[in-house]
Amino acid sequence: MMKYFIGNWKMFGVPRSIKILNRINSFRSTDSNRNKYRIVITPPYTLLETFAKKFRDKKIIIGSQNCYQKEKFSSNTAAISPYMIRAIGAKYTLVGHSDNRAEGDTNTILKDKVKFALQNNLKVVFCIGENKLEKKNNKTFSVLKNQLVKVLESKFNKNNIIVAYEPIWSIGTGKIPSYYELLNTSSFIKKTLKKIFKKGSPEVLYGGSVDEKNVHVFREIKEIDGFLIGGASKSSKKFIDIIKNYYR
Ligand code: PEP
Repeated sequence: MMKYFIGNWKMFGVPRSIKILNRINSFRSTDSNRNKYRIVITPPYTLLETFAKKFRDKKIIIGSQNCYQKEKFSSNTAAISPYMIRAIGAKYTLVGHSDNRAEGDTNTILKDKVKFALQNNLKVVFCIGENKLEKKNNKTFSVLKNQLVKVLESKFNKNNIIVAYEPIWSIGTGKIPSYYELLNTSSFIKKTLKKIFKKGSPEVLYGGSVDEKNVHVFREIKEIDGFLIGGASKSSKKFIDIIKNYYR
């Protein structure tokens, strides 16, 4: 099964930061495991076009961190549509990152974003996850189910959707779910996705404080098809070590 290592740069990077991608690309080109995984990097909008052009014929795929939910062009200041993102050569977009949910992205908006991104030939990495209080109150499964069923539909092409499970309490905190917690949660997510899509399920990634030291914990969980990596993706060494240690 193809695995994904997706690096979410968030608000990080200037044009010279391309050297991080160059190092990752050099590593990949000689790595004996290279055909087992796909690398996607989501830099900020300011770097999207330069990076997408530079890596057009290479094996690092460029994606955006968000997109606007409707219209090719509009009068909405600072909005960027999936059409514009695809037009500069990016191929993926994150949708529903908890940062954007916190800023007001509702299920209704997210559904439009997923739909419109797919229509514009972008692959969607749809992020879901419970917060600390929801976890404490044993609401994790109901929160995740709601986030999935309110947004995803069987008519969406599951091959162009990847679901990233990112518990909010884990993002940027150094805390990760235990092996059994993640085993249960990821099977619950896959089961829910199979119900939505009837035949088969999109791939499921884990995100939240993944680094080169803890990545081995996730290796045995077959439901986890890869990782969405924030902090550690800003260092080529850490990102490369995550891949190396995953296959060790
Ligand atoms: C993220 O914000 O998508 C993320 C996974 O961050 P981190 O790896 O830094 O927890």
